[in-house]
Amino acid sequence: MASVRLVNISRRFPDGSLALSNVSLEVEDREVVTILGPSGCGKSTLLRIIAGLDHPTGGEVWINGRPAAGIPPRSRDVAMVFQSYALYPHMNCYQNLALNLVLKKVPREEIDRRVRETAEMLEIGDLLDKKPRELSGGQRQRIALGRALIRNPQVFLFDEPLSNLDALLRERVRHELKQLFARIQATVIYVTHDQVEATTLADRTVVLDRGVIQQAGTPETLYRMPANTFVASFIGSPAMNLIDARLEAGKLRIGERQIDTGLDASGIFRIGVRPEAIRIADGMPAKVALVENLGARFLIEARVDGVPLMVLADERPAADSLQLQIDPKDIHVFDKESGKNIRSALDSRRIHP
Ligand code: ATP
Repeated sequence: MASVRLVNISRRFPDGSLALSNVSLEVEDREVVTILGPSGCGKSTLLRIIAGLDHPTGGEVWINGRPAAGIPPRSRDVAMVFQSYALYPHMNCYQNLALNLVLKKVPREEIDRRVRETAEMLEIGDLLDKKPRELSGGQRQRIALGRALIRNPQVFLFDEPLSNLDALLRERVRHELKQLFARIQATVIYVTHDQVEATTLADRTVVLDRGVIQQAGTPETLYRMPANTFVASFIGSPAMNLIDARLEAGKLRIGERQIDTGLDASGIFRIGVRPEAIRIADGMPAKVALVENLGARFLIEARVDGVPLMVLADERPAADSLQLQIDPKDIHVFDKESGKNIRSALDSRRIHP
């Protein structure tokens, strides 16, 4: 069983800054978990702690049912792939791939077999004689991946492995990684600030902000029922519309119209509606302020009585005014102060009375 359990992990640096605060997470055997968050939220620190390259100032890391404290990185049976690839420039690709096994004094024939096997899996057989400087970014990334794979570790840790690649290549390598994860059936913890990477690769995604887990769940759950405004605005593209509005006994007023959210709540709330959940159909009159052509669809900035709403539409609007419809089930209601999703708070109370 290759599982990772984090129990109340905190990391305070000597300068007093708190990079991680009470992070608890269980990653199951063969699960692919992505950790998503903005720059500086503590993603790399968390991975480094799992790898044993850094140490928590509070809490415990368990790997395969055993506490990892005191176990050095090389004995943790985890392999990390870095954004910078971390290849040795003076060695050719064969030597880069073989290095870890050489250090472990694995017999030469077995090293050769595993290098060839790994090279075949990643389709890098023709690069083995080249030095890293003779490779493209995508090829270097593949060698770095090979260095992790060849160790056959229990757990793979990825630290933004695609961020040095251009957009097209990133998409291709992302597909390859997805297939690879399915093939090697490994436990993977993958850190990224890119929501598409996070949700396409993951069984489960953990959203981190300022060292605190905001929500952990399947990509579908994060999209459909974001726990708070941070997750709501971080997941989904174009981003969710968030406006402050008044509810009266659950009825939301936008312009002249009222929409019944079905919630038993009154007061000012932060209301969220995804641009793709707003339909152009008989309903609220709106003015078109701006239209962006996204290729397959159009992003329209509409104004309902001055309230700006982004709308994702299949067609370019035919006139300067249109009508918009929102299904009550697509309205997210968040507490204005805490940012918490009122509906998911109610649901979890219903499930756990
Ligand atoms: P990025 O996506 O930019 O790499 P990240 O989410 O990986 O960011 P970390 O590198 O884990 O973030 O850093 C988390 C926080 O801890 C940041 O605010 C950073 O400035 C701080 N930090 C990291 N290392 C140290 C250190 N050695 N001393 C003090 N503060 C640090």
